[in-house]
Amino acid sequence: MQNSEQIWTLVDEKREPFQALADRVWATPEIAYTEFKSVAEHIAMLKSEGFRVSESLAGIPTAVMGEAGEGGPVIAILGEYDALPGLSQEAGIAEPRPLVAGGHGHGCGHNLLGSAALLAATAVKDLLAEAGVGGRVRYYGCPAEEGGAAKGFMVREGCFDDVDIAISWHPGSFNRVDDAKSLANTRIDFTFHGRASHASAAPHLGRSALDAVELMNVGVNYMREHMPSDARIHYAILDTGGVAPNVVQAKAKVRYAVRARDLVGLNQLIARVRKVADGAALMTETTLETQVVSAVSNLLGNTALEEAMQRAFDRLGNAGFDDADRAFAATIQATLSPEDIQSAYRRQGIPQRPNTPLCDFVIPLGTNGDPMLGSTDVGDVSWKVPTVQARIATMAIGTPLHSWQVVAQGKSAHAHKGMVFAAKVMAATAVEALKDPSLIARAKADHARRLADQPYVCPIPADVRPPIQPRPAE
Ligand SMILES: [Zn+2]
Repeated sequence: MQNSEQIWTLVDEKREPFQALADRVWATPEIAYTEFKSVAEHIAMLKSEGFRVSESLAGIPTAVMGEAGEGGPVIAILGEYDALPGLSQEAGIAEPRPLVAGGHGHGCGHNLLGSAALLAATAVKDLLAEAGVGGRVRYYGCPAEEGGAAKGFMVREGCFDDVDIAISWHPGSFNRVDDAKSLANTRIDFTFHGRASHASAAPHLGRSALDAVELMNVGVNYMREHMPSDARIHYAILDTGGVAPNVVQAKAKVRYAVRARDLVGLNQLIARVRKVADGAALMTETTLETQVVSAVSNLLGNTALEEAMQRAFDRLGNAGFDDADRAFAATIQATLSPEDIQSAYRRQGIPQRPNTPLCDFVIPLGTNGDPMLGSTDVGDVSWKVPTVQARIATMAIGTPLHSWQVVAQGKSAHAHKGMVFAAKVMAATAVEALKDPSLIARAKADHARRLADQPYVCPIPADVRPPIQPRPAE
């Protein structure tokens, strides 16, 4: 395994500047489509490493692509760097303590995600140069994974059209090849328009848009009993129509998130939610306007790439956590409930291991647990090109994503080690594809088979643009 060892050395040689990059992104948490400082950090790193850089990819100012090498094949490594609102948190402590009241925080570990992906791409670039091998490696800096579906827009704009395979990862509690079980997901705003009037003097002249929102929610809540058990529907009322109870609310808006196992199931469920909304408008004599905000596809697996990534995991072993890492992780685990930890193991389909604050093993390929019922915009990339993702331990076992505990561990020694481990797994998978063209051929055949009876149609309607944000004044 000479080549794999070479690629691991290349990762190790640059681990420090990339850990520092992850820490700088951790310290400037920016949410969907506002990642101006984070993308600037990634662009600076790409340029200093000699990548050919394309900024404002797909017309999105916080998206970037860097390419190195010549000829084919083209291997894409996907990174992210967006944070979450309301999760500001000090690093290195095991109690909730915001750095900035109400501020943002890296509660999904995307500071590590982007930096490890860029480190992997850099190591592959260095290997291509040293070995004089044909092939290109690209780093895609993808914004707005959290609710922004940026990769879907990037796919729609053709950013991945000439890519052969895509590789990514996500921070978590365990080490494994991702089992590709995310849900397709869409967000739709339903705005009802009624007629204002004095609620006491002339109630018969008013038509309440807020009533329509309430009736829609009641209708959907009844519908829940009669939908697939792995589908999900959530809502948030964005506009209640005002704060005066003595004015009939003329306008009200509710945002729905609808999730289903695949795009076909998603479209069926959306059609039913739309009928409920139409019914609410009919009952209240209001009118209805709808707007799709974002949408992502479910993840499509790829057996050939998953097996290749598993081989990389098996050769590497683990991230090399030490007693100090385990001691800090144990203090984080002490803030979790026993159910948090049990359900983390259940989702992986493995028995619980006592006294194991950090995962130092690899879960075998094909181990089935309770599926992860979230969504990711990597889904759309996986429908466009054969895609594989790693899940790598960067946090104490049981740490729920989108929690202060993730932010608190985001700059820790164990997070840094997990990040470097992730870069090695991804880079080794890419190197196998570059050295063995049959891997890419098998991956493409598998991909074609999966699309044969359900071709990809981007779930984002053609007229929906990414909600890009203005660059803040310096
Ligand atoms: Zn995430």
